[in-house]
Amino acid sequence: MVKNYMEDVVEDLVDKLWNENTDKDFCKCEKCKNDVIALSLNKLPPKYFSSDKGNIWTKLIFADNQKMTDVMTAVAEAMKIVKSSQRH
Ligand SMILES: [Zn+2]
Repeated sequence: MVKNYMEDVVEDLVDKLWNENTDKDFCKCEKCKNDVIALSLNKLPPKYFSSDKGNIWTKLIFADNQKMTDVMTAVAEAMKIVKSSQRH
């Protein structure tokens, strides 16, 4: 099975942001969450693995501040876009 492990990284990060609930103006529904995940993934390079080596890569990226900064920047930009286009 081939999987984009960048999905795991972005979903984990967005989950944390959703649970922390730092921005009260931001809609926390499932649709907006999925919009943020999708937009973030479109900005980030995909990381495909055909085995569970992907799990090792996922652990490494969480420990890599520079790479996590890139992911967080993409998520922050996606949240800005979703926030400005919320219609519910
Ligand atoms: Zn919403």
